Amino acid sequence: MDNYDVVVIGGGLTGSALSYELAKQDLRVLLLEKDRISDNATIYSYGGIAYWCGSDDLTIQLCNEGINIHRNLSAELEADNQFQELNLLFTIAPNQDIKEVESAYQQFHIKPQLLDLETTVALEPLLNKNAIAGSLRFPQGHVNPEKTVLAYQQAFLKLGGKIIYEKVIGLLKKDHKITGIKTTKNSYSAEQVIISAGADSRSLLQQLNLNLPVYFSHAQLIKTKPTDIKLKTLIMPATTKRLDIEKQVTQMEKTSLWEKPNDEIQADVVEAGAIQFADGSFCLGQISQIITDINAQIEKQVSENRIREALDKVLPSLASLEGQWHNCQVAFSQGMPFQVGKIKQLEGLSMFSGFTSPFVFVPPLAKYFAEYLTDGKNDIIDRLPDLTKLS
Ligand SMILES: Cc1cc2nc3c(=O)[nH]c(=O)nc-3n(C[C@H](O)[C@H](O)[C@H](O)COP(=O)(O)OP(=O)(O)OC[C@H]3O[C@@H](n4cnc5c(N)ncnc54)[C@H](O)[C@@H]3O)c2cc1C
Repeated sequence: MDNYDVVVIGGGLTGSALSYELAKQDLRVLLLEKDRISDNATIYSYGGIAYWCGSDDLTIQLCNEGINIHRNLSAELEADNQFQELNLLFTIAPNQDIKEVESAYQQFHIKPQLLDLETTVALEPLLNKNAIAGSLRFPQGHVNPEKTVLAYQQAFLKLGGKIIYEKVIGLLKKDHKITGIKTTKNSYSAEQVIISAGADSRSLLQQLNLNLPVYFSHAQLIKTKPTDIKLKTLIMPATTKRLDIEKQVTQMEKTSLWEKPNDEIQADVVEAGAIQFADGSFCLGQISQIITDINAQIEKQVSENRIREALDKVLPSLASLEGQWHNCQVAFSQGMPFQVGKIKQLEGLSMFSGFTSPFVFVPPLAKYFAEYLTDGKNDIIDRLPDLTKLS
């Protein structure tokens, strides 16, 4: 059986960045990814780097470090991931109470700038004047998600890391220690196994009877072909509904929902938003739904029509662009914007998953977690709460 210092499960943003940082520490690292052609939350993402979203000393520090890493990441990884700095506009609908909306965004260390209708439309002429009352502006970083993951993976390979495309179907355990993993084809042993499998992290933990607060939503979006239309900003509606539903469905009394997964829609929110990539293509979104069955079937046409109808009000010139509809699952956690650390109940097993705003938090935390696993301590990782096991 091949032996590694670390096996990382999952080649999305989290697993790829972490594998690179671990290889930089001279560890022998195997990254296992089930799909040769990516079909995960990362490649369908907007790629926004929300470095304004810190709300305590730790997350503020990570936000500042996250954006600084991104400013140099293309150079460090020796691959262009199309990093840019732009304006994120949270559009305010005419029927929303502007003061209430503004106060919902005061919890962050960078406060939004309230823009009136004229200023908003001057910044983003594609917005429909009749559908909005103004906006909240945040400074935001932006990358092409697919190119970022590829850049991390190529830099990881250059450092001697190994990527194998096999699905992990189980973890190998001896007494209270994880000793490796089993895929559909092989077994690999490792001193440390790290779960970075996005929404699938939950089922991998469940196989070990570990009930950590990692959940997922189903997200639907449309990726278009390149066009000549130019969007200058990242557009999303000023609503905290998505984060609110994530909180609701993870409250203690609701956790039983996740124990018996089914295809009932527990919560649903449409957020008319758009981002354009350097080649002129768009990601148009998005619907977020809480359905506890990870394999739930989503009605493509209904979903696509809902996204296009919502966009037609705010960004009419984008609503009927030709494009491909996608559904993916996005991990999130409860209490903290990530689940990072060793799992105390089982030696040799760690988590690096469940991120909210991963594009800002993952790069610095991957670096710190790799240092922690090498040195046995790290000032930042030592400050994180123990991974909480739910009863
Ligand atoms: C429309 C949309 C817009 C978004 N916008 C933003 C944004 O602007 N900013 C931001 O920070 N975030 C954004 N997000 C969220 C962000 O994209 C995700 O949270 C993030 O990409 C998740 O990365 P991940 O590595 O945890 O999971 P994933 O990207 O889902 O990767 C997990 C990987 O694990 C693999 N895997 C799973 N199980 C196994 C197994 N058993 N064996 C081997 N491999 C396995 C999967 O194949 C997958 O490749 C957005 C998401 C969506 C859908």
